[in-house]
Amino acid sequence: MKTIPYKIYLEESEMPDKWYNVRADMKKKPAPILDPGTLKPVSLAQLSAIFCEELARQELDDTTAYFPIPEEIRNFYRMYRPSPLVRAYCLEEHLKTPAHIYYKFEGNNTSGSHKLNSAIAQAYYAKKQGLRGVTTETGAGQWGTALSMACAYFDLDCQVYMVKCSYEQKPFRREVMRTYGAKVTPSPSMETEVGRRINAEFPGTTGSLGCAISEAVEAAVTQEGYRYVLGSVLSQVLLHQSIIGLETKAALDKYGIKADMIIGCAGGGSNLGGLISPFAGEMLRGTAEYEIVAVEPASCPSLTRGRYAYDFCDTGKVCPLSKMYTLGCGFIPSANHAGGLRYHGMSSVVSELYDQGLLTARSVEQTEVFEAATRFARIEGILPAPESSHAIKVAMDEAVRCRETGEEKNIVFGLTGTGYFDMVAYQKYNDGEMQDHVPSDEELEKSFAQLPKVL
Ligand SMILES: *Cc1c(COP(=O)(O)O)cnc(C)c1O
Repeated sequence: MKTIPYKIYLEESEMPDKWYNVRADMKKKPAPILDPGTLKPVSLAQLSAIFCEELARQELDDTTAYFPIPEEIRNFYRMYRPSPLVRAYCLEEHLKTPAHIYYKFEGNNTSGSHKLNSAIAQAYYAKKQGLRGVTTETGAGQWGTALSMACAYFDLDCQVYMVKCSYEQKPFRREVMRTYGAKVTPSPSMETEVGRRINAEFPGTTGSLGCAISEAVEAAVTQEGYRYVLGSVLSQVLLHQSIIGLETKAALDKYGIKADMIIGCAGGGSNLGGLISPFAGEMLRGTAEYEIVAVEPASCPSLTRGRYAYDFCDTGKVCPLSKMYTLGCGFIPSANHAGGLRYHGMSSVVSELYDQGLLTARSVEQTEVFEAATRFARIEGILPAPESSHAIKVAMDEAVRCRETGEEKNIVFGLTGTGYFDMVAYQKYNDGEMQDHVPSDEELEKSFAQLPKVL
């Protein structure tokens, strides 16, 4: 048996050259996305008015299992991939667990998260289509940062609508984006019709993600040569993120390790969907079994407490309807929520796999998440993103449970990014000012009542 190193690096030549589309192996496919006006499945032509054509095609393709990764994208990937799979020896020792803990680290790039894996793909297809630029929204700023890096690489114009409160509270993220050449506009702005309307209706509003999406979509469809891009939730994004799972699988195989449990944090579902894709594919084909766990915040519990229903992907209700586990597109996590993963819905692929019982979900409260994050930082050295720390929390819990049962289980989790830009949240935790909030059933019922009526 080979000794397992702290970091399992794949050779550059071992980096996957295809993305894997788990939908191809699903007997029951995710429900199609619908045009909110006609309630009919959205056509390629309709989708291509908002997204780049190739990305629209990927979005609608439920049958092609493998998509070759274009060489230009692989060249960019080579600058920060393959990413390491780390054996958490120090954490295992600290927890005195017989379990073996591994994490796939996606924070080794300037944007600090896995979002760059899809940003570079989306920018590439925009460039290839001859577009001038792309528009998007960003909340905390990870997606906007990743996209501005990708657009700089392909010399595309990048317009980011950043939720106004983040724009003001996270000047460093904003400046990183501007350094890479992006135009960053606080949302709601006076530059779009929807922005002007929202500003008139709610003077002094500090904005929301839903509102920024509406502005970014309007900016894309009203400017010649622009399309809108999105960093999570979509099936195309999961496809690009499958590089995480494919590398993880290749690294484990290299050392003859069989994962028993795979854990990922879940906001819109892109890192989780990407990490689990090849493993879920094996389960769907009946060739292997894994225990897959999605971890979400108790304050935004779309999988554990949401409805599986058609809903709008955005608060502004301009995007198509998607069947997913949702809290209702008007749901906004409580103001004290600081741990990210605040999207109201979930990727339709992850939702369908969850509905079919291929994965389970757990919710955790933010103070325990930051407690796990802090312990992880002190023991393993990496300062984790609050989002990633949801997975850390559950991996640590499981390792402690194994201590009691003596199980020598292989636990693999996704460490999606670093937390350098999340120090305001860490400060709250360090000052003892962080509180937990769990929405009441009444609160959720009120939001469910607003779900669009689709049979
Ligand atoms: C955006 C983000 C997430 C959550 O998004 P998913 O689409 O659910 O993966 C998790 N971790 C980090 C570091 C992020 O930036």
